[in-house]
Amino acid sequence: MRMWFVENDKVGAVFFCDTLGIYAVTPEEKKHLISWSAGIDFSDERVKNIISTEQQKLEILKQKNCNTYPFYSLTLNISNTCNMQCAYCFANYGNYHSQDRIMSIETACKAVDRCIDYYGDIGEIKFFGGEPMLAKDSVEAVCRHVSDLERKKIINSLPVFRIISNGTVMRPEIARMISDYHINYIVSLDGDEHSHNSCRRMKSGESSYEKIIDNINMYRSITGCSPDGIEITYNGYHERNRIHIIDMIKLIVSETGTDASAINLSPVMTENKSIRLETLDYVLEGYIDEINDEIRKSGIDYSDKKYRGLIRILKNRMRSGNRICEAGKGCIAVSADGSIYPCLMFVGDSKFCCGDLSDDLAYCEAVSEKMIGGYDVMENDPCRSCPVNKVCRQCMGVNKFQTGSICKQYEPQCKALRKRIEKAILGIAEGLY
Ligand code: SF4
Ligand code: SF4
Repeated sequence: MRMWFVENDKVGAVFFCDTLGIYAVTPEEKKHLISWSAGIDFSDERVKNIISTEQQKLEILKQKNCNTYPFYSLTLNISNTCNMQCAYCFANYGNYHSQDRIMSIETACKAVDRCIDYYGDIGEIKFFGGEPMLAKDSVEAVCRHVSDLERKKIINSLPVFRIISNGTVMRPEIARMISDYHINYIVSLDGDEHSHNSCRRMKSGESSYEKIIDNINMYRSITGCSPDGIEITYNGYHERNRIHIIDMIKLIVSETGTDASAINLSPVMTENKSIRLETLDYVLEGYIDEINDEIRKSGIDYSDKKYRGLIRILKNRMRSGNRICEAGKGCIAVSADGSIYPCLMFVGDSKFCCGDLSDDLAYCEAVSEKMIGGYDVMENDPCRSCPVNKVCRQCMGVNKFQTGSICKQYEPQCKALRKRIEKAILGIAEGLY
C-alpha cells in the first residue's frame, strides 16, 4: 500500500494514498510503518490496527468504480454578451470571439429537453455567460419550463438552478425570479473596492464595486437572503499589493452576508502581464496557513468553498477516478447559438465543439470522448507516481490554458497542489477541521 509521510512543526501524519486514510503518527510509529512496508516485523498494536483498517478499506474501495461519471450538470451559455470589460476575461468580454447574442428561449428549452431525453434527470442547470442577467427572459423561461416538467412528472425532481453573475444587473423582478425559482445566485467580487475596481470595470470604463454592493443590498432587502455564493478571482493586483486572502474573505462576509463556506477562490488565468500571477503558491496553498492560524486562535473557520471540498473529499475518502475530470461525461455546455462543448471551459473553441442541438447527443458524446476521453492518469506520468493522484481533481480546461494540451499538467501548479493537499492532511491530523 502506498504511504506518504508528511509533517510540520505541530504534527506528523501518514497518508494512505490509495485509501485516503489519514493518521497522526509519532516518529516511532512512522518507523514501524516503514518497517512494515519493507516486510520487517514489529510489535506496535496501534500501528497494526491502522494497517489492518487500511487493508480492509482497500478491499472495499477496489469494488467501487470511481470512473463512472453520471451526467449531472448542463451549462447554458445563456448570454454571449456582457456589460463589463474585466481585465482578465477569458471570454473576450463575454462573446467568446463570436457575435454578441442572447440564447433564445427556444434554444435554451431545446437544450434542456435534449438532455432530459438522453440522460434522464439533470442535477444542475448553470446559467453562464457573458452576463446571464442580460438574458433574464430566457433564464426565466427555462426555470418555468423545467418546473412544468417536474409538475407533469416528466422529471423526478427539480435540478439545482445556478446563475453566475457579475452582480451589476439587478432589478426587483430579477430578485423575485431568483427567489421564486430558488436559483443559486453567485456573484463575482474580488475583495475590497480598490482591488475589485482595478480589474473589474464596466464597458463604459466606470468602476463596478459600488454598483454591485448596492445591488446585493437591493436583492437582500427584497428576498431577505444574501447571495448564495461569491467568486473571487485572485490576480496580480492582489499579489503585488500583498493582499491577504483571509482578509478578503472576512470583508466579503461582512459586506455581503454570504458565509465563508460559500466563497469560491480561483487564481486568475490570463496572459495579461500586468495582472497575471508570478506564482500560484500563495493562492493555492500559502493562504491556508492564515486560515489554520485563525482556527487555532479563534476557532473560526474562514476557509473557502474549494478548500472545504478538499477536506470533505479526504475525510469521506472520496477517491477520484482515472480520468482527468468529468468534462463531456458528467457535464456539457451549450453556447448561445446551440453548439455543444464538453464543459464551459471549452466554449468558443471550435476544436472542442462536439456538435449542436440538431445532432443526436449520443453522437456528440462519442465525438467528445474521442477528443478528450481515454487518457488514464494512473498510467501516465506525472500523475502515475504522484502521492495525491487519488485526491487531486485536475481540470482539462485549466491544463489546456496552462500548457496548451488538455492532458499535460503544469508542474508549478502540481507542486502547489501537492502542498495544498499536504496542508489539508496535516490539518485533519491536527484535528483542525
Ligand atoms: S463579467 Fe465575466 S464575461 Fe463579463 S467581462 Fe467580466 S469576466 Fe468577462
Ligand atoms: S498534483 Fe499534478 S501530478 Fe499530482 S495527481 Fe494532480 S495533476 Fe497529477
